[in-house]
Amino acid sequence: MASKNGEIAGRLPKSEVQIKILEQGEKASQMRTAYKFRIYPNKQQTANLDLTLETCRHLWNNALEDRRANWQLNGIIRSYEDQAAILTGEKKRYAELYSVHAHVLQDVLRRLKKAFNNFFRRVKQGTKEKGYPRFKAKGRYNSFTYPESGFKLTGTRLTLSKIPGTIRTFVHRPIEGNVKTCTLKRDGRGAWFVMFVTEQEDPVKLEPRTALGVDLGISYTLTTSEGQTFDYPKYYVQAEKKNRAAEKSLHRKKLGSKNRKKAKVTLAIIGKRVTNLRDEFCHQVSRELVDLADLIVFEDLNIQGMLKNHCLAKHISDVSWGKLIRFTQSKAERAGKSVELVDPRNTSQRCSGCGQIVLKDLSERTHSCLNCGLQMDRDHNASLNILTLGLRGIACGELTSGLGLRPGKRLFVEAGSPGL
Ligand SMILES: [Zn+2]
Repeated sequence: MASKNGEIAGRLPKSEVQIKILEQGEKASQMRTAYKFRIYPNKQQTANLDLTLETCRHLWNNALEDRRANWQLNGIIRSYEDQAAILTGEKKRYAELYSVHAHVLQDVLRRLKKAFNNFFRRVKQGTKEKGYPRFKAKGRYNSFTYPESGFKLTGTRLTLSKIPGTIRTFVHRPIEGNVKTCTLKRDGRGAWFVMFVTEQEDPVKLEPRTALGVDLGISYTLTTSEGQTFDYPKYYVQAEKKNRAAEKSLHRKKLGSKNRKKAKVTLAIIGKRVTNLRDEFCHQVSRELVDLADLIVFEDLNIQGMLKNHCLAKHISDVSWGKLIRFTQSKAERAGKSVELVDPRNTSQRCSGCGQIVLKDLSERTHSCLNCGLQMDRDHNASLNILTLGLRGIACGELTSGLGLRPGKRLFVEAGSPGL
């Protein structure tokens, strides 16, 4: 049920299948989207939310102990169903369990089951880190979930079962699709968030008519095969400099000292700001790229990482570019469009006009080919090569013919390229 009269609510699913959590590698026919909003609970509500977290944490620890003890003493593997039945009985003995919505408690047991399933899988695969589920110390259990019902969002007010009143919610984007779950989350600073997961039919895949190659610069610039460039805003670069300074400052402080504690808080605040700014930029650029073309081609950063030696600057931009690619992928998927990743080898050295290798070092900003006479911005040339590789990769004759192009040849005449 999408927003009806601006209201969404959790509804009981018709069958278990509908709320099945997808296993790894399983393909969803339904597209899932998460919407995360900041919420502003009042004092009483905050106390209630905190208490719910504590109850869930205790339940997690007790259920984990139950699984451990049963295995060690009796060789019995406890199932979710066993534990859910025990939970129902325990409610008579522990009043605090009544202060939490029944489905929220069941979800804790389901999370534990998932943690064990993952552990068993890793044991089976012989993975080095087995990751046996851990007991959670205070402050290490930060979220709980209403898996199907017990929540309602009306306009900007969130109603939660067992939490008094309605909670002010900053709904910064409309929710699309059927709301499946509602998760409440507390971050390291004590701020609360609500996350709705929705399901929607997969969008119809578009027949691509336009394509764009994107060169990700070593520093903070991105160039498209149409010659457009996107720069990180200056305030982001400055914030990141501050972040690095704060990191250094923290490492200079004595272990366990008061100053170190303070430096840690400062770093957390600055770090959060950097992440927020980076996300904002990546969201804006990815939106623009997806609006510009049906197929977007990037360099595969994983391959690039193996090829190039790691300097700090490179590492930092990799983090951002990885995010940008992921954001573009999800936005493209939503619009029925595609993203391709290609091997970045030689993309900056090869001539996009004739395919000759034209060696140049990093300081040379212009590509000028002696073979065919092509002259253009270095990054623009690289993005054209990336586009060519992407079109070759999808091996789709229709696409290239639709674009009036032949794979392997120069695809866009220097439209919008700087007049070099
Ligand atoms: Zn050339």
